[in-house]
Amino acid sequence: MKGVGPRLGAIFQSRGIETVRDLLHFFPRAYEDRTKVLSVAELQEGIKATVALRVISSRKVPTRGFGKSMFEVRATDDSAVLNLKWFYLPRGMDHKFTAGAQFLATGTPKSFRGVLEVIHPEISWGKTADVAAPRSVPGATPEADPLHTGRVVPIYTEIEGVASRLLRKILWDALGKYSSVLTEDIPRRFTERHALPRVAESVRDIHFPKSVDDNDEAMRELVEFRTPSHARLIYDEFFKFEFLVLRQRLQMEKENALSIGLNGGRKAVEDLSKLLPFKLTGDQTKAVDEILRDLAAPHPMNRLVQGDVGSGKTAVALLSAASVLAEGSQVALMAPTEILAEQHFKNAQKLFGNRLSLALLTGRSTNSEREVLLARLAAGEPIMVIGTHALIEEPVVFKSLALVMIDEQHRFGVEQRRILRRKGIHHSDVTKSLVNPHSLVLTATPIPRTLALTAYGDLAVSMIKEMPPGRSPITTKVIRGTSRAGAIDRVRAELRAGRQAYFIFPLVDQSEAEGFQSLRSAIVEAERLQREEFPEFKVGLLHGQMKSDEKNQVMADFKAGTVHLLVSTTVVEVGVDVPNATVICIDHAERFGLSQLHQLRGRVGRGSHPSFCFLFTGSHGSESTTARLEVLEETNDGFEIAEADLRIRGPGEFLGIRQAGGLPFKLADLVRDRDWLLKARDDAMELLKSDPDLTLSEHSPLRVYFEREGKLQGDRLKTS
Ligand code: ADP
Ligand code: MG
Repeated sequence: MKGVGPRLGAIFQSRGIETVRDLLHFFPRAYEDRTKVLSVAELQEGIKATVALRVISSRKVPTRGFGKSMFEVRATDDSAVLNLKWFYLPRGMDHKFTAGAQFLATGTPKSFRGVLEVIHPEISWGKTADVAAPRSVPGATPEADPLHTGRVVPIYTEIEGVASRLLRKILWDALGKYSSVLTEDIPRRFTERHALPRVAESVRDIHFPKSVDDNDEAMRELVEFRTPSHARLIYDEFFKFEFLVLRQRLQMEKENALSIGLNGGRKAVEDLSKLLPFKLTGDQTKAVDEILRDLAAPHPMNRLVQGDVGSGKTAVALLSAASVLAEGSQVALMAPTEILAEQHFKNAQKLFGNRLSLALLTGRSTNSEREVLLARLAAGEPIMVIGTHALIEEPVVFKSLALVMIDEQHRFGVEQRRILRRKGIHHSDVTKSLVNPHSLVLTATPIPRTLALTAYGDLAVSMIKEMPPGRSPITTKVIRGTSRAGAIDRVRAELRAGRQAYFIFPLVDQSEAEGFQSLRSAIVEAERLQREEFPEFKVGLLHGQMKSDEKNQVMADFKAGTVHLLVSTTVVEVGVDVPNATVICIDHAERFGLSQLHQLRGRVGRGSHPSFCFLFTGSHGSESTTARLEVLEETNDGFEIAEADLRIRGPGEFLGIRQAGGLPFKLADLVRDRDWLLKARDDAMELLKSDPDLTLSEHSPLRVYFEREGKLQGDRLKTS
């Protein structure tokens, strides 16, 4: 590109923009309507606008707070005076603001001591109000300054070191010269089906939209990314993505695995279900059925069971395991913490006694326990091993591992899950081929459906939405500032009634706070709560840096009810089940994601007594923080909360997809564009069924695309 030398080139490269194609796919994140130039008198506080001004005077003002000095310009268009301020001014700019100089300024006015001012406006030189909108097409010599004013202007994510006006200019030139090289690679029948415009036209239009004139609806479509051009490129991204994800899934489905169920497995599950002290919910039964159906096929199961905290996923997992054990193969269940592994082990023992052959393997297992267990596994005894990372870290060898289950799977990295799975791959003498284990992952952080289709598109999903009967409601309250007395009174009332409580803090120790002096730590608060608030009760402390013996002791005491109030960091987040606990207070709630708070809240409401959740947040918290937390006051539905979290915090916060490298969408948005996602997914599936290897000539552009760019993406997408 002319005008992009080594300096700019290096900056672009650091942003992953290495080719003209990358540049053309660096899409605007927003648009601004600068077709209208207002008079200063018409400006309204808080509403971004463009005005045509003449400099009255300018000066540097020394400041204390904001670095060395501030630059201030007084300007007017004769309707009123407007002040412009810079706390940082690009070099040389100040010399241009001589009295009488004319320019256009775009920015959001604020009122300061009764006078309107704009901080860091965007400036176009030498323009007056009558330079409105010479309409031009990309590539034409920009007359006057039509890129930056007098039109709908694209706004890009800032790239440090590249002024937004320069970036706009570079894109303008690139589009003019090169947009014709953008060729169609999505099969034509699909783009025609949805009446989508062509790629080159869409890319041009997205950067420099056609006139919207005074059409408010057209402008709205544009700012909401709903123009046909947007749709085309959004569909494009989803289609290619889904094609890869689904192809991977179909490939996995072709691999070999042991078919399980017909030789007594199914019967074993039916018998065991009758032993349960409760009746399975409809969703639990459905999940078990889906799993048994998968297990019966001679191909590996890859299933995700997602259900809200307390929805009873463990029973589903244990029943499924029974089927495998009954047919002589081994099962591994990996949980993220010792507390959880031990809880599963004890629950399984309680539910099924010695009808299931169970073993526990954690960092706490003694050498001799370990040796005995390893020998039994190597010999091929049909055992279900419940454990922690010890299952993958230890030289554990399974002779016949046919089912791998991972609880709270987002707590594990992709690689850890793979290692465990690999322990189940072996050569079969019967089929003379490699046999893969079945795999079942469980998660209590409900994934919005759109994310499930993308990040976990290679997994089949069982949903458990229905809660076991007899759950008590949880009342949630967001509490700002220091007005905590009411909450503390409620905790005291609950403790007096014989119930138990949790206090959750984000940090273990003050020293971790790194400047957040105000953060009360678990350790300090545990001591204070014991001494000042609840001297007549026993307060226990649990955090990740304690030795596992100590942790287990505190947990055991809390379960037994000898510790009444448990002060903890987020180690209790996953899975812990103490039905007598009826109140949870979460400090610095604003530091947690909604889904995580929902998980924490799920520690209560597990018994028959009404429960309470108090979310404490500092008085400095912004309105939006409080508004975000209020979602939890309004709903107890984990799926709804997950959708809100996705909207507010983006997909990166969910479920280990951070480890997987994130989602590759530049334009598409999982929430906003979910309809396109669903269409693209159906179309990709249709194509996979008709021509999976893209050998037909009309599919060769797509094949070429994947050969060139798709491989990298494909590698990133594997979740198992
Ligand atoms: P999660 O889905 O969060 O892992 P658990 O499997 O730990 O939930 O189940 C939570 C509690 O509910 C456990 O005490 C379990 O025994 C109980 N439970 C599970 N299924 C049912 C059911 N169908 N009816 C009644 N209680 C159930
Ligand atoms: Mg669980």
